[in-house]
Amino acid sequence: MLSVPTIGVLAIQGGVREHLLALDISGARGTLVKTLGELNGVDALIIPGGESSTMDKLARTFELMEPLREARASGMPMFGSCAGMIMLADRIVGAIEGQESVGGLDITVERNAFGGQTQSFETGIVIDGIRDPEHEFEGIFIRAPWVVAAGESTEVIAKISSGPHEGRIVGVRSDTLMATSFHPELTADPRVHELFVEMVRNS
Ligand code: GLN
Repeated sequence: MLSVPTIGVLAIQGGVREHLLALDISGARGTLVKTLGELNGVDALIIPGGESSTMDKLARTFELMEPLREARASGMPMFGSCAGMIMLADRIVGAIEGQESVGGLDITVERNAFGGQTQSFETGIVIDGIRDPEHEFEGIFIRAPWVVAAGESTEVIAKISSGPHEGRIVGVRSDTLMATSFHPELTADPRVHELFVEMVRNS
């Protein structure tokens, strides 16, 4: 794999720009992915935050859902934040009628598990595998999901460490897939994106 991989950000709905900026400072070249041709041109993909049910509908309308599943199944590394985590989950609690996902992560996620927009919050999180792991990462949670259950092939890399939601799983990874309930792209801290770039380089 190239030392500066090209990483696409799925740009059909949600917070695209922030991920592009984060990739810029994490050793990758970021680019928008809206079409099959653009998907075929990237080494890896980020699925951003937004609204998973809308993203799913648009992905199917634009005939991107099957290509996304095929790319994932053939080993393309993917990272999903918040709604992106829901898109990468094999099972969704609280899905709207007929909601589908790209899948691939053997996890069950619960949508809006921390509550609605007014219950958005920030908290320090310890994340396994990032640079300076003992230095807490600022986790920003906005109508975020949490992981209800993770299968054996899935490594839990982050949990809430205190407060009413202590112990909730908010970060997971497998060989090629990674997902966070929170939004690392909304901080100036590149360590989660750096970890993904490293996964892409090693893939
Ligand atoms: N609650 C949203 C969903 O279910 C995710 C919110 C977010 O991405 N900030 O898709």
